[in-house]
Amino acid sequence: NLTARLSRVVKTLKGEARLTEANTQEMLREVRLALLEADVALPVVREFVARVKEKALGEDVAGSLTPGQALVGVVHKELTTLMGGDLGPNATELSLAQQPPAVILMAGLQGSGKTTTTGKLARWLAEGGHVQNGRKTGKKKVLVVSADVYRPAAIEQLKTVAAQAGVDFMPSTADQKPEDIARNALDHARRHHYDVLIVDTAGRLGIDEVLMNEIRALHALLNPIETLFVVDAMLGQDAVNVAKAFNDALPLTGVVLTKLDGDARGGAALSVRQITGKPLKFVGVSEKLAGLEPFHPERMAQRVLGMGDILSLVEEAQRAIDVDEAQKLAAKLKSGDRFDLNDFRSQIAQMKNLGDMGSLLEKLPAQFSQAASQIDGKQANKQVRRMEGILNAMTELERSKPELIKASRKRRIATGAGVQVQEVNRMLAQFEQMQAMMKQMKKGGMAKMMRAMGG
Ligand code: GDP
Ligand code: MG
Repeated sequence: NLTARLSRVVKTLKGEARLTEANTQEMLREVRLALLEADVALPVVREFVARVKEKALGEDVAGSLTPGQALVGVVHKELTTLMGGDLGPNATELSLAQQPPAVILMAGLQGSGKTTTTGKLARWLAEGGHVQNGRKTGKKKVLVVSADVYRPAAIEQLKTVAAQAGVDFMPSTADQKPEDIARNALDHARRHHYDVLIVDTAGRLGIDEVLMNEIRALHALLNPIETLFVVDAMLGQDAVNVAKAFNDALPLTGVVLTKLDGDARGGAALSVRQITGKPLKFVGVSEKLAGLEPFHPERMAQRVLGMGDILSLVEEAQRAIDVDEAQKLAAKLKSGDRFDLNDFRSQIAQMKNLGDMGSLLEKLPAQFSQAASQIDGKQANKQVRRMEGILNAMTELERSKPELIKASRKRRIATGAGVQVQEVNRMLAQFEQMQAMMKQMKKGGMAKMMRAMGG
């Protein structure tokens, strides 16, 4: 991945104060390769690298950073921007603000995940997940209908999905015309005061005119407030052509990137965003109906870069602190050394130095923040200080060999830190959890770990 690739060149360039043509050339080559490895389409990569180069040249290299780290910072920032960071905080929201029913039209190739995503969105809206201007707007009354009259059992599939989602299903049959189905459903939704109507459509295996004409006609008839392009992240490079075809045919309002729980590195996100110019709104992260998440530009940038948490730690750390600690940790992860209590302590120290726990936790990959969210807001800093107290009460040997810490040592440490033994135990348990994650991360990389966590 990119972090690994760059770290090799990074070391050779210490002590230079500016990013220059000469010291960035090799690194930019690595950025290019890393993006291609992540399945970003070639023209998109070219444009991106040119942008990074333009932004990076002449940039000052702050404090103890190497030009390599500074460049990673530029790459990360630019990638986040391109993923939609420039669209503002509300870009991932669905817009439903109109005279109900708000119609959502689903478009995409066969197998991209339209029907599944219809169910996911229906559930999300019915359960009150909808957010407007950053605030939840409450549970919606949702109707779904299938205009897929071609694929055997497509209508039946949506019926099943709707039942699972706990939303109403408008029956349709394979001998109806898609437009008639849509018209009936819209009429029904109006008369029964539905907030939202989601229209699932047919997809073909390739892009063809018949398909495009049909969905254009549906669009004209339904006048949807959202037209979502559903695309399989595993499409990789091919995502570009598919996105282009749908974007040319329809006024898309947003993109749903599915199957991100697989091996896809997320490069398709960048390609699709670049080609359509439309915001990515959601990602699909499992076959199950709960497997839908709002899109986070930053997280996706990190996925493409690989090793997100370390990278953003380095980034956050630029201003405040101890870049070296983060680097050591990153190096340690790569080298295969065991993550011990000393590493745990320096991580905690960094959190404290950074002050803003909230923003730091957000930067961590989802599975970390889940564990970390048990430490809630205001309590966080206090807890960090207590954990540090416990760690400081240990000897160097104990920190590097945590398995030595048995009952009598625990009592001594607890007394030294002025806490109960249970608190020492709790901290050790948290440490072990973190250690297990680090191990996983080293072994299989993020994608594998995300799968494992996602169940
Ligand atoms: P459609 O032809 O566009 O309607 O696609 P479907 O909704 O029928 O999905 C095709 C296949 O992809 C099904 O087996 C789904 O279970 C699967 N699928 C859809 N979304 C996701 C996802 O986010 N993750 C995973 N792992 N599978 C998905
Ligand atoms: Mg379908």
